[in-house]
Amino acid sequence: MVDVWTIGTSSAVPTRERSLPCNMVNYEGERLLFDCGEGAQRRMMMDKLGLMKISRVFITHWHADHFSGLLGLIQTLEMEGREKPLYIYGPPRTEEFTERLLNLGYFQRNYDIFAEDLVEGDAIVGEGYEVRPFEVDHSVNAFGYVFEEEDSVKANKEKMKELGLEASPKIGKLKAGESVEWNGETIEPEQVIEEVPGRKVVYAGDTAKCENTIEKAEGADILIHESTVGHDLIDERRYHTSAKQAAEIAEEAGVGKLVLTHFSRRYRGGKEQELLEEAREVFENTVLGEDGKHFEVSPNRPE
Ligand SMILES: [Zn+2]
Ligand SMILES: [Zn+2]
Repeated sequence: MVDVWTIGTSSAVPTRERSLPCNMVNYEGERLLFDCGEGAQRRMMMDKLGLMKISRVFITHWHADHFSGLLGLIQTLEMEGREKPLYIYGPPRTEEFTERLLNLGYFQRNYDIFAEDLVEGDAIVGEGYEVRPFEVDHSVNAFGYVFEEEDSVKANKEKMKELGLEASPKIGKLKAGESVEWNGETIEPEQVIEEVPGRKVVYAGDTAKCENTIEKAEGADILIHESTVGHDLIDERRYHTSAKQAAEIAEEAGVGKLVLTHFSRRYRGGKEQELLEEAREVFENTVLGEDGKHFEVSPNRPE
């Protein structure tokens, strides 16, 4: 199961309804955070998202709105008696900034924190998935991230039935790519086994409209993209994206669903709908991210 949560959906300054940037991917019970703005841990508590299950935090860039919740989260994990390590990844200087953060105040910690500077081309490999950073166009070193599940194989039930293979333990061999003997015939894996593409979720972080995002988000099930302002104001926000541009990216990358986030506080109290409408003119399957909103990732998998 791949679940995605938008946890904080404001930009720069929180509003009454929205806290600072944070998104979570829940993969088979393991929680990966993408950014950790102020307010993130409290929102996760409200939605019972299990802070202790967070294994890795991916920071898109070190602007305060994207990491200001990290210190509080680290402290809470300590208070809750965490023992397993926490991994923090991000663009160049992530090790340095994490080190500085951990040396602030009288700060006690009984578990390890490992920070790592990444570059595009790296892959953080977890159990059944990997996360890859990619460069975006922002005023400081900044990444987007691709979360991608490993491809897997499954047996086509209809074809198995036809061959009378349904309940056979030979299925395991076929899935492993070996041919088997069955009722005097040789069954090749290609006859019954199908590839199931892994699910893909992309979060772009803070960025202007960027070719690299279109390339890396290709075919994603969900693209979470910033849309700081409407297109009429984009010239004032050189390193950000308008709702229209986010939708163009989604359209060009051929994603399944676009989730807008990182709204300027000028779009509050329902005014966010303007951004939604602007985006939907270009890409119909667009939704607004909300704090605590959940999306299940269910791609078009062959039955
Ligand atoms: Zn930001
Ligand atoms: Zn920024």
